[in-house]
Amino acid sequence: MALRPCPECDRSISTAAASCPHCGYPIKKERPRTIIQERSKDESSVSSTLINIVLILVIVVIVMSFC
Ligand SMILES: [Zn+2]
Repeated sequence: MALRPCPECDRSISTAAASCPHCGYPIKKERPRTIIQERSKDESSVSSTLINIVLILVIVVIVMSFC
């Protein structure tokens, strides 16, 4: 098990501990969010490209109406 300093009392605590045994500081467990972040990034990129296409179409329609 790895040890790391407590952010509250700066003593060495186990990374597997849910809270600091010295001061009781709750340790946040890091969840693997890489897959969710990648999915959300893909969705956002797809939506942004759709918005770009719609914007380009609107600009083209405006320019055509002025001609
Ligand atoms: Zn502590």
